[in-house]
Amino acid sequence: MNFFDSHCHLDKLDLAPFGDSFDAFMAAAFEAGVQRMLCVAIHPDRWQAMAELVAPYGVASGSRPQVWLSFGLHPTEAPDYALNAEAIVAFVRTSPFCERIVAIGETGLDYFRSNTAERWQHERFRAHIAAARALEKPVIIHTRAAAKDTMDVLKSEHARDCGGVMHCFVEDWETAKKALDIGFYLSFSGILTYKTAADLRETAKKAPLDSILIETDAPYLAPVPHRGKPNTPIFVSHTAQVLADLRGVSLDAIAETTTANACLWLSLSC
Ligand SMILES: [Zn+2]
Ligand SMILES: [Zn+2]
Repeated sequence: MNFFDSHCHLDKLDLAPFGDSFDAFMAAAFEAGVQRMLCVAIHPDRWQAMAELVAPYGVASGSRPQVWLSFGLHPTEAPDYALNAEAIVAFVRTSPFCERIVAIGETGLDYFRSNTAERWQHERFRAHIAAARALEKPVIIHTRAAAKDTMDVLKSEHARDCGGVMHCFVEDWETAKKALDIGFYLSFSGILTYKTAADLRETAKKAPLDSILIETDAPYLAPVPHRGKPNTPIFVSHTAQVLADLRGVSLDAIAETTTANACLWLSLSC
């Protein structure tokens, strides 16, 4: 099998089931068919450490997964942290891991814990889009209870120019269409396997196959039958299986298609 987990947080995994060894986890992931991953940072304080953690997994080897990086500041993290587009661009351009930083984010809007549109979230979101455009890298969007504002900002900031993904997509078909209209991908997580996600499964059935990605968002959002436990990229197969069943194709076909989509999206030669 050839899975590409398009969104995970490898620096936050629970490694206890792997003898507290990151390398043992990575070997198990490869064994489970997870050949590629995009590791997403959520706070600048962790950018460097995360990059160093996955540094040994930079090249395709045929026996271990290959990992790429995305740097951003999550919309619910550190309200007082000032981060402008220039700082993001400068960090990426001068990073020793520059060639492996293939996307910007995650960024976006999250009103789940607050019912007012937070100004600082908007400014930070726009800064990420500006940086992504300057760097010509796609942007990874997190949106929660804020779909309309998120799509408005993407449009007004010309995010079509850099492209991107609606990560962990849970919104309705109207929002899906708006994202597809500006050339964005939809990435489905373990939520697709939840009993309550019937509407989302309808969306996943209708979306164009060449615009779909799969992800775990590990260590969060473990799919059924692991729901409630710490997630790892190994469980991406459960989301892929639901997608395969919905689309009436084989698991292998979904793995190949979503991997090809992710490689195209990130401009990777794989
Ligand atoms: Zn997120
Ligand atoms: Zn995430």
